[in-house]
Amino acid sequence: MYEPLFRGLLFPLYEGLLRRRRTLAHLREYERTQWLPREQVDALQWQRLSRLVAYCWNEVPYYRRRWGAAGVGSPADIRGVDDYARLPVLTKQDVRDHFDDLLARPARGSMLFKTTGGSTGEPLRIGYTRENYERRNAVMHRGYAWAGAPLGRRALHLWGEPPGVGIKARLQHAAFNRRVLDVFRMRDDNLVAYADAIDAHRPRVIVAYVASAVRLAQWLIASGRRVHVPDAVLCAAEPLRSHQRALIEEAFGCPVFNTYGCREFALIASECERRQGLHVNADHLRVELGDPATPAGEAGPREVLVTDLFNYGMPLMRYANGDLATASASDAACPCGRGLPVLASVDGRRMDALRTPEGHYVGEYLEYLMFTTPGVRRFQAVQERIDRIDVAVVGSEELADDALDQVRRRMVDAFGSSVELAFARTGELPLTPTGKLRVAVSKLAHCVWMTLLHAVEAVRGLGLEAAVALA
Ligand SMILES: [Zn+2]
Repeated sequence: MYEPLFRGLLFPLYEGLLRRRRTLAHLREYERTQWLPREQVDALQWQRLSRLVAYCWNEVPYYRRRWGAAGVGSPADIRGVDDYARLPVLTKQDVRDHFDDLLARPARGSMLFKTTGGSTGEPLRIGYTRENYERRNAVMHRGYAWAGAPLGRRALHLWGEPPGVGIKARLQHAAFNRRVLDVFRMRDDNLVAYADAIDAHRPRVIVAYVASAVRLAQWLIASGRRVHVPDAVLCAAEPLRSHQRALIEEAFGCPVFNTYGCREFALIASECERRQGLHVNADHLRVELGDPATPAGEAGPREVLVTDLFNYGMPLMRYANGDLATASASDAACPCGRGLPVLASVDGRRMDALRTPEGHYVGEYLEYLMFTTPGVRRFQAVQERIDRIDVAVVGSEELADDALDQVRRRMVDAFGSSVELAFARTGELPLTPTGKLRVAVSKLAHCVWMTLLHAVEAVRGLGLEAAVALA
């Protein structure tokens, strides 16, 4: 009863009249464009992208300079997505080094800013416009609706909430019909309180960090506790592995949906009711997969490059957000009928990906090995050097030494015998400041790959004349 009231009356009143936002108009637009055939989605994306490219050339000093140095004489030189794919990648370091030059002249003075970062070292400041903010929210509501969590549906969030949440946030949660349980305070000895809260709130959908949902699911299964069954669990903020999905589904008794986003762009892709990969919000942003470490045509995780089609304040063009994803193996349309393209999987952060000495990323294999080993409760693998991986394991009494030896042998198969593997049992593993457990931590310098990437781009962009001049 509350849901139609919220969507039909309260939300439009609040957003439209009170805040003068156009979120609902954007949502209606995105609800329509998701059903366009793939070719029309591509055409719409290019129309939006080419308009933004011309704007960047005229209004954003950074792109005029950088693209100019790469051989672009005018926006007309960028005739399609193939030309666009030859423009330089924008790194986080580029954003830090050239912040002011990345701000579009017409938007200066009327922008919103947010700072990303936290667990991964240096913070990063990103600017965006008000329209962009409204569109991000619209795209998020669309994606969440695919997973059975449309606006106003009774939801429970297993989420990280900073301490001292104010009255405004509380009112907002109440209006949106959601209850938020802070997972920063989740410990082994208070999990029963989370289960009790689910029974008390009786949500139709649970929205959760993967690690928190997994931790609660493990406890529910181990303790034999049953909780109120929602229609769906929607996972966010971390990559969702297949064994984790199975575990959460077993514990909560409902389907699990995967979503993918990041602070710089909000929701990037999410699963529809068919759950056969993640639909990219291609009518709102462009996602490319590129990676010098993986030769073209080879399957596997690649670097995610994102362009937000509606950030006219601080356009991020071909921005490497630090994540890895795998392309869909086929170009066949999703049986749901949406024309939005599909990613096969999102594989986590580049700095969380272990590598073979040849430089290939190893996806979820280690997690699969560890979590199919009886008695493994949590683990963390740290790669400080290309030829050594340290694995710390939190295990129950059930965890046998020969089971870990088995894991070690299979890791040798995946990483090669030149990699030294060191296993250690431990009592607890450190969480990031946002309450997540990093199961793999790469401390390998990434700069080698980025230097290579930039070198490749420079050669591509310079064109024949300049290459000859250089020679
Ligand atoms: Zn679909």
